Amino acid sequence: MDRITVEKKVLNENQLLAEQLRERYRRHGVLCVNLISAPGSGKTALLERTLERMDKSARVAVLTGDLQTENDARRLAKFGFPVKQITTGGTCHLDAKMIGRHLEDWKLEDLDLLIVENVGNLVCPSSYDLGEDAKIVVLSVTEGEDKPLKYPGIFRKAELMVLNKADLLPYVPFDPRLAVENARRIHPGIQVIETSCTTGEGVGQWLTWLAARAKTKKSALAAETKQAALSAEEVAHVVA
Ligand code: MG
Ligand code: ZN
Repeated sequence: MDRITVEKKVLNENQLLAEQLRERYRRHGVLCVNLISAPGSGKTALLERTLERMDKSARVAVLTGDLQTENDARRLAKFGFPVKQITTGGTCHLDAKMIGRHLEDWKLEDLDLLIVENVGNLVCPSSYDLGEDAKIVVLSVTEGEDKPLKYPGIFRKAELMVLNKADLLPYVPFDPRLAVENARRIHPGIQVIETSCTTGEGVGQWLTWLAARAKTKKSALAAETKQAALSAEEVAHVVA
């Protein structure tokens, strides 16, 4: 098999597993988000601020991916929520199989929100469906405003762009308006939240975004359950 054929086969297998994960998330009304960015844009810092501000009763868990080290999981575990490191051993993205394996001893019925922090890489993580409800791209102001044009794949697929490290804007030659304009040239509907994990700016807005998305997911499940109950009732009538 040539390289393209092998790649296609791998992606097809991943897609099947991703659909199974999506179905499991749907059945349990779990919102799954997949955070993707270049290395060093502050995904883990954003998750620290996120978990720190979550209600202690929140049913949230995190899977965090890296090539090596358990450092990120250690940073995130101190907030008391379930956290697991996925060490890929060199693979530059997470795939659905890795997610499935790391979910084995967690009960999805105990969760409302599963946050996946992908390996720092703007290229192939965008090709690997993890069964998530939304991809979120994190861009920091220490990078270039033209990242959306250089890596259109992920900006096209991401529902939300988090523009992180906003506290550094006075010190770096980064034009946030240009970055947003570039992102919207690739994906006109992309939502944007500006955050700083140092000052906490925008973290509230990000939490609100997550909560709204989680609520939509639960309502969809509730509507479906109700519909199923009504259909069962109809069947019962017919049978009677
Ligand atoms: Mg990290
Ligand atoms: Zn990769």
